[in-house]
Amino acid sequence: MARMRGFGTTIFAEMSALAARTGSINLGQGFPDTDGPPAMLERAVSAIREGANQYPPGPGVPELRQAVSEHRKDHYGLGYDPDGEILVTVGATEAIAATILALCEPGDEVIAFEPYYDSYAASVALAGAVLRPVTLRPDGGRFTFDPAELRAAVGPRTRLILVNSPHNPTGTVFTRAELEEIATLCRERDLLAVTDEVYEHLTFDGVEHIPAATLPGMRERTVMISSAGKTFSVTGWKTGWVCGPAELVRAVQTVKQFLTFTAAAPWQLAAAHALRHELGWVASLRADLESKRDRLTAGLSAAGFEVYRPAGTYFVQTDIRPLGFTDGLALTRELPSLAGVVAIPTQVFYARPERGRHFVRFAFCKKNEVIDEAVTRLTRLT
Ligand code: PMP
Ligand code: GLN
Repeated sequence: MARMRGFGTTIFAEMSALAARTGSINLGQGFPDTDGPPAMLERAVSAIREGANQYPPGPGVPELRQAVSEHRKDHYGLGYDPDGEILVTVGATEAIAATILALCEPGDEVIAFEPYYDSYAASVALAGAVLRPVTLRPDGGRFTFDPAELRAAVGPRTRLILVNSPHNPTGTVFTRAELEEIATLCRERDLLAVTDEVYEHLTFDGVEHIPAATLPGMRERTVMISSAGKTFSVTGWKTGWVCGPAELVRAVQTVKQFLTFTAAAPWQLAAAHALRHELGWVASLRADLESKRDRLTAGLSAAGFEVYRPAGTYFVQTDIRPLGFTDGLALTRELPSLAGVVAIPTQVFYARPERGRHFVRFAFCKKNEVIDEAVTRLTRLT
């Protein structure tokens, strides 16, 4: 199919299969190796036992839409009507695809910061739209963009800017000033923002996540996306949500109903429980991840990588050149035999892969002993 030309197997599938085949430690695909809050897991089981096993309403079960609405209000002061301004999706991935398909005409342009989560480029291609990348580059130990480059990327066909913060794979959490650059452009050039906030609760060192929709004039032009996977350590539940003005959410739902019609019921009820009752558990997850971040960054630095300390997410971005390597894709394919570890070559998240050739991403959402063993093995690279 022409639109999908160039989109082969995702890097996550390739690298997790490589880890399984070689028995390597998998610091590639970002999923935790411990479970989420026990009462939430029990709620999924009880939901099944109590008969939540048939099609739920297309927009999502009312309990979850209500819980998302309360969560947005309590955390960010954003009011969304559970009836019409909130839509439950099959993970953030479906939310992103349905939103881009709903809001872009063929030939429209979508701005995304590279490196970007791989589904962005595929969703833009499916919509027949055109991706305009703006590169995030290291500056003072964190990845950021040049506002002039962002401004120059906007043209007459630009429809929307995709904003992922906390950012996978660089770990950057956009500052208010960075978000204001984006918001100013959206207001001046009448653009929409589609925000991928799946790591909204996973920030460190007291850095707080700021949703773009909270900036002046942005709520009415922002489609805000998140999901349960990262916040509650249930990446396999694929339960996400979209919040936005009714007109935009209605357009997204029109697409969503023909992609999946609705999302699985038991996980929705359990996610509703989690949003209401498990944010204390999330605070402990965040503290735990912060210490794992420190553990892995220290280990990778000692092993010879140049490390970019992330302010959020599950991931550490590294530069492999100090170890004498230049190509992250070649290195990650060799890493199982060199060190018994799997990681993700960041270059696959670039429209211009040469810009990320020397970066490799490691996930730290793993047990301490797994991180320690991976570091011990990687130390052999020097
Ligand atoms: N966006 C980003 C930035 C991600 O890292 C991921 C992976 N979890 C997703 C979206 C997809 O989320 P979900 O599993 O809820 O579809
Ligand atoms: N979001 C996860 C990551 O970046 C995995 C997503 C996936 O497997 N598609 O590692």
